[in-house]
Amino acid sequence: MSNITVCARFRPLSSKERRDHGDGVCIRCIDTETFILKDEKEEDIIFSFDRVFCEKSGQAEVYEFLVLPIVRDAINGINGTIITYGQTGAGKTYSIEGPGILECGEQKKGILPRVVDGIFEHIKSDKMAKYSIKFLTELSSLLRDLFDLSKDNIQIKESKIQGILLSGATEMSIMDPAEALQSLSTGIANRAVGETQMNMASSRSHCIYIFTVQQELTGDKGMKTGKLVLVDLAGSEKVEKTGAEGRALEEAKMINKSLSALGNVINALTCGSGRANHIPYRDSKLTRILQDALGGNSRTALLCCCSPSVSNASESLSTLRFGARAK
Ligand code: ADP
Ligand code: MG
Repeated sequence: MSNITVCARFRPLSSKERRDHGDGVCIRCIDTETFILKDEKEEDIIFSFDRVFCEKSGQAEVYEFLVLPIVRDAINGINGTIITYGQTGAGKTYSIEGPGILECGEQKKGILPRVVDGIFEHIKSDKMAKYSIKFLTELSSLLRDLFDLSKDNIQIKESKIQGILLSGATEMSIMDPAEALQSLSTGIANRAVGETQMNMASSRSHCIYIFTVQQELTGDKGMKTGKLVLVDLAGSEKVEKTGAEGRALEEAKMINKSLSALGNVINALTCGSGRANHIPYRDSKLTRILQDALGGNSRTALLCCCSPSVSNASESLSTLRFGARAK
């Protein structure tokens, strides 16, 4: 049995897609789990995921189905991961941040502010509980601390007891959700600066939020720790499509390598035949960070974000195939 929940999300057509390609849509939802994509050869390809969110689906629906079970796990001391995958412009960041993480209204609020609040609501009455967040980005195969840009090469270490450690990464305590979102918002702006310095035309860096909840067990039995990792992946589009050259092209290739490393880890976890199966976590920094929150008894949610436009059918197909392989 796999602990991976795979969902697809189709955003509404953008005004540019409407202008350039009319109302042509390549996706048709059949029910809450099944949908059809018409590929470039006009052939119908049928998919069946744990859930499909169509353009009318709201942020709360995505949160409740995909994220809430993992928030509950984290509070119960079980690690979990939520990943958004898809080409640039497909709706990954919208799903995670919403139109912005500060004051965008209850309806449009993304996964990130909902997780910040959701965990806090559960533990606020527990005076001994510790609740913190780390916020990193992977750029040029280096891990940067988005709370402190002077830390631009965070190292990954492994401890038998504590699992994966990010040495020196800023760990911000969450005492007040509104304050935490303010700091995260500054970090998000820092991410954009990094990408501009790299001369990247589109968002080609992974963005990683790591929540840790530590609570004392009743009866002096020690602590329980749960970790929730939220990942806004770099765009999955083919390198040629980005029109990148020089350093940006090298960057794009590295990003695609780490995306395929993630795919390989997920496939090894789902196709695996028990313990003998080797999981290639060490093939990328991203998968190493996720090592103790992906696999084992951790629960993983993969949100495959797609444009519904006929003009993006081939990228949407490759995103959905990534999702289908994870099942
Ligand atoms: P990505 O992070 O995958 O590159 P974005 O999340 O930035 O893509 O989305 C691209 C554009 O589409 C943004 O302007 C965003 O506001 C809009 N968008 C994405 N998903 C939705 C949605 N579900 N509802 C409304 N607008 C959306
Ligand atoms: Mg984005």
